[in-house]
Amino acid sequence: MIRVPISEFLEIYLGAVLFWTFAVWFTANWMKRRREIRSRQLVIECNICGHAFRDPAQNSLTRCPSCGRLNERPAYSGL
Ligand SMILES: [Zn+2]
Repeated sequence: MIRVPISEFLEIYLGAVLFWTFAVWFTANWMKRRREIRSRQLVIECNICGHAFRDPAQNSLTRCPSCGRLNERPAYSGL
């Protein structure tokens, strides 16, 4: 059996808890950001009438359901 002083054990334990908490927080925020970027890519705002609509087809050109004009999908940077 390995003998470890209680102070070192507490340091290791608290360090592991802090690391795990940070890892969970970072992963949750990263996944939330990916979902937001993905949902923004599905929404297109018409250049003529300003109508915002969802287009899950992922085509580069999509037709506005309000005025019928073709709109380009905006390019988003990110993940
Ligand atoms: Zn329109």
